[in-house]
Amino acid sequence: MNSSSAPATEVIGRLKAEYPDARTELNWTNPLELLVATMLSAQTTDVRVNGVTESLFAKYRTAEDYAGAPPGELEEDIRPTGFYRNKARSLRGMARALVDEHEGEVPRTMQELVALPGVGRKTANVVLGNAFGMDEGIVVDTHVRRVSGRLGLTQSEDPAKIEQDLMKVVPEEDWTIFSHLLIFHGRRTCRARKPDCPSCIINDICPSAHKYKT
Ligand code: SF4
Repeated sequence: MNSSSAPATEVIGRLKAEYPDARTELNWTNPLELLVATMLSAQTTDVRVNGVTESLFAKYRTAEDYAGAPPGELEEDIRPTGFYRNKARSLRGMARALVDEHEGEVPRTMQELVALPGVGRKTANVVLGNAFGMDEGIVVDTHVRRVSGRLGLTQSEDPAKIEQDLMKVVPEEDWTIFSHLLIFHGRRTCRARKPDCPSCIINDICPSAHKYKT
């Protein structure tokens, strides 16, 4: 931490009190569903993903189901999430790898997860942290990036570097919840445009509070 950054543990404590239900806003009931939902969430909203996964998860229950899906049909099933051709290709490739290399199960290590087609470190962190309760890293999405920058917890714009900066100041047992807290705060108060600093519960420790006076 430097003099122009908010104390991470204090931020976490206050945000936990403010958002006791902070968790992923994607709907899922098992690791495969979370992996699929997270892959679909690229470049779209959780609400839009949840809009397709209810029927998608009823239709495709196993990795085999995705791996064997006719391409055009899977594309149509996920179309509202955007970039549906690429996403369908990634889902089929990921599922094929699960079937061929992991007996149809979602693996539990970062190394194995990022080796799956279409799965990056961010998606792997979401699955490890939320489906398996393993704090392996910190999910850096657009909200985490913006809010942690405003809080002075990182000076970087690069997600990999931001994650490294955050892992140095956030206690390991809070790595998963930390992302949820910043995402909740970013959606509700520390919005991209017009953050609501006057009513923000961490405005007294945020080095950016004075920049957004209304
Ligand atoms: S004080 Fe403003 S900039 Fe800082 S975290 Fe709160 S809303 Fe964001």
